[in-house]
Amino acid sequence: MKNLKYIVINQSLKKKWIMSTAIVIFISYAAICTVIYLALYSWLLQNEENNAIRTADDLTSFFNSQNESISISEFQGNTGLFKAIVNQNQTVYIFNQDGYEVLRINNKSSAADIVLSYDQLRKTVISKEVIDNEDVFVVNKFVNIGRFHGVMQLIHPLTTFQSMMQYVLTTMLIAGLGAILLAVSIGYYLANLLIRPIQDLRDSMMSVRDKGFDKEINFAYNADDEIGDLLKIYRTMIAELQSTFAKQQQFVSDASHELRTPIQAIEGHLSLIKRWGKNDPDVLEESISTSLEEVTRMKKMIEELLDLARKEERDEHAVTNVEKVLYSVKEELEVIYTDASIHISTTGEPLLPNITENALGQIARNIIENGIRYNDRKPIIDIDVQYLSKKVVIMIKDNGIGISKEHLPHIFDRFYRVDASRENTGGGTGLGLSITKMLAEKYDVEIDVQSSVGKGTTFTLNFSL
Ligand code: ADP
Repeated sequence: MKNLKYIVINQSLKKKWIMSTAIVIFISYAAICTVIYLALYSWLLQNEENNAIRTADDLTSFFNSQNESISISEFQGNTGLFKAIVNQNQTVYIFNQDGYEVLRINNKSSAADIVLSYDQLRKTVISKEVIDNEDVFVVNKFVNIGRFHGVMQLIHPLTTFQSMMQYVLTTMLIAGLGAILLAVSIGYYLANLLIRPIQDLRDSMMSVRDKGFDKEINFAYNADDEIGDLLKIYRTMIAELQSTFAKQQQFVSDASHELRTPIQAIEGHLSLIKRWGKNDPDVLEESISTSLEEVTRMKKMIEELLDLARKEERDEHAVTNVEKVLYSVKEELEVIYTDASIHISTTGEPLLPNITENALGQIARNIIENGIRYNDRKPIIDIDVQYLSKKVVIMIKDNGIGISKEHLPHIFDRFYRVDASRENTGGGTGLGLSITKMLAEKYDVEIDVQSSVGKGTTFTLNFSL
């Protein structure tokens, strides 16, 4: 039993499905057939019994209706009348009181023994017996024919009933076999239909396990049911994992590559101090301040990398007062860059776009600070906020060095720097605009950049409401 259970459990889902469908249909069919067969059996048998008794009763009434003076020998010569009452498969015997046969109508079956007393025979006695290897009903009854007193015996064979039952059984068996074949075919078709996507899912999982995210995941099954949902969820999960995995790899390689430069610079300066710097205050001073600058840059880079790596969820309910954020960024930057002037103008009735104060502040700060840093004149930044219907547009225009056409498509790439040597104040990491882009994508902010070398750059932020 345990072995059987083990074998069944280890079969494929498809086989289990087909087997269980076939077994369930077989058991239900067998149960229904058994009930129908038994009911039919007892109903038809009862019918046969009633038939035999009715014939016996008809015969006795016929005998009773005859004249008192009629003798048995008159009947012996003419059995034609009886044959109208008795059907051709039935046999009727009439015995005298000594048990001798005096009359026989038809000759299909031999007579049965009469072991009953006359008292018992006053009523109709019916029994089921086997005569000449055949199942029969035997009806025994006491009869009076004129002055003759004797016993009538009716033999009613059950051959018609039995062949009828045989026929029913054969039909049921053939129909049952057909039903099981049909059930197995339908089960096979359904199993194929429903288990194929699960097999595809398993194959895809195995491929991800063995070969990683190389292969594109496509499933032929796209019905709108539980399995369809499962496949969709799996596909999105894998896509997300794939992009997270790719981002992580990119992050590690970018970070290690970019951090190597400041570390090498610090290493160089420390060797310099070790060799000469201890006795030369100028070298010492210079190396220490350059190393400090590098450390500060490294710290900024690490913070920015962490900002980029952190995948915070979008806050769907956040709304922000644009002017309040822009004024606070302006104040903050004017303290750091004292020669820069930042102007803010607005048109229209204030609207509140969906973005957090922190995200908008970071986006604005990165763009404004770039306008100041990449500038060889006195930096002037003009910010124009337009509240339009269902839209807020922020234009940030600087009078900086501008970005040439070939560099413009790349400025949002990680670590992309047009020309580090042209920077007004040191410390650029090439990450500022990547962070800006990441935040803008999170809050569906469209960014457009127009630039002209030597004249300046304009960043346009579009917030749809
Ligand atoms: P960084 O930390 O180097 O400033 P960003 O991602 O902020 O990195 O900018 C990428 C590059 O795009 C900068 O190195 C700079 O060369 C160029 N850039 C960005 N904004 C401006 C601007 N307003 N004017 C000129 N060049 C710009």
